[in-house]
Amino acid sequence: MEHWSGIGKIQWRHIGGGPDCPWANNSLRLSPRQRSVTMKINKPRHPIAVIGSGIAGLAAANTLRDLQVPCVLVERFGRPGGRMNTRPGDGWTADHGTRYIRRSDQTLAALIRSIGYEQRRVSVQGGVHRLLANGTIEVPPHGGLDLDRMCLDLGFNVLTAGLAHGIPAIFDAPVAAIRWDNSANAFWWEEGQVFWFEDDKGEPIRDRTTREVLKASGVILATTGTAARAIAENSPALHDLVPALSAVKYDSCYAAIFKIPRQQPPFYALEGAPGARIAWLAFEDAKAPERAAPEYSVVVVQASAAWSAELMAKSDAEAMEAVYTEARAVLSFLPESPISQTYKRWNVSQLVSAPIGLPDRWPVNPESAPFSLAGDYVLGPRAEDAARSGVVAARQVVAQLPARRSFLGLELGA
Ligand SMILES: Cc1cc2nc3c(=O)[nH]c(=O)nc-3n(C[C@H](O)[C@H](O)[C@H](O)COP(=O)(O)OP(=O)(O)OC[C@H]3O[C@@H](n4cnc5c(N)ncnc54)[C@H](O)[C@@H]3O)c2cc1C
Repeated sequence: MEHWSGIGKIQWRHIGGGPDCPWANNSLRLSPRQRSVTMKINKPRHPIAVIGSGIAGLAAANTLRDLQVPCVLVERFGRPGGRMNTRPGDGWTADHGTRYIRRSDQTLAALIRSIGYEQRRVSVQGGVHRLLANGTIEVPPHGGLDLDRMCLDLGFNVLTAGLAHGIPAIFDAPVAAIRWDNSANAFWWEEGQVFWFEDDKGEPIRDRTTREVLKASGVILATTGTAARAIAENSPALHDLVPALSAVKYDSCYAAIFKIPRQQPPFYALEGAPGARIAWLAFEDAKAPERAAPEYSVVVVQASAAWSAELMAKSDAEAMEAVYTEARAVLSFLPESPISQTYKRWNVSQLVSAPIGLPDRWPVNPESAPFSLAGDYVLGPRAEDAARSGVVAARQVVAQLPARRSFLGLELGA
């Protein structure tokens, strides 16, 4: 892959994209849809850094790609998807973050369409019953069947991996800070751990172990809100953001996944009422026929926020045991012990976690440089909100790009 200026300085550990990326060489390959678009945009000198490869970052990167603006995704973990991820097991898959999306989710529908995965959308089979605080199960009208709930046949990571394909991405790269460089008219993003100390006069000084990694003409911060706050605290140009990001609230969430001998419950999922220890319990194989295995079922149990706080204090083995015992107390037909089990700890954003609001109300615009926020902490706590914020953020950044060299996307493709 050819490198653009600044990028040769970094040591790549793993990079996605490559020859598929339209800006990797001079011959742009435009899709028929892009060919019909005529727009004049400013070409940045450096790529736009999209930090975080959850659905918000992926939506942003795909929007930039559609607009023919070079970007690079930077992700602290080894794979894209963030909280819209799927756990692959031995022959099974379980959506342990985003559980379902809605047919009416337009941004997600457009993203799914953009990678040609429309046919992989399936209405969730089976209904959702309600689990009351006293442990009894309430059956809603029509068995809780709601065909507006959708999933993807083999899991949501089919979507996130599909969206990441063809976009240059640096994985295992935790961004620690973003610095605005006035002379270069660009951001540097820095990787590593940032520690603050006090010098002998009590002034804060920064640990030097971080290093400047990549110059970016614009930045879209699409991490979780808590990670964004840590980055803003370490980034003088973004200090204005800290109060807004400090108001972002998450619930800790402990999710355990159990493989058990095959069950056929009269529902696909239980949704916990306030006060119930279990917030959500889903039979993943009852969700989409493609996932059903003849011999076993896969159950994802998400603990409520209150109970998760207790579980986090336990060892993982103890926590999984407690979750399974609770699930058995509710569903007496579960076998005495699962065939296998695993777990995941999450942050689930709450409804109150959108204090930052819409782009025109975002409190920061460092040096009038292209910068934007994306993620479910910007608009709301659903995958659709996160995706929509990514699209909005990308358009926002492109609109802010300094006028350098305009080009017509159509002509470059000729
Ligand atoms: C258990 C659970 C169930 C849910 N159920 C549903 C549901 O049924 N329907 C629904 O619509 N939504 C659901 N949601 C919410 C939905 O999953 C989220 O709204 C959405 O996935 C958030 O996407 P995001 O891109 O904003 O954040 P994330 O997916 O969290 O992406 C942020 C990314 O940034 C990366 N990152 C963080 N810090 C750094 C750093 N310093 N440097 C580099 N990268 C960094 C992270 O590793 C991550 O990949 C659920 C969430 C959870 C946890």
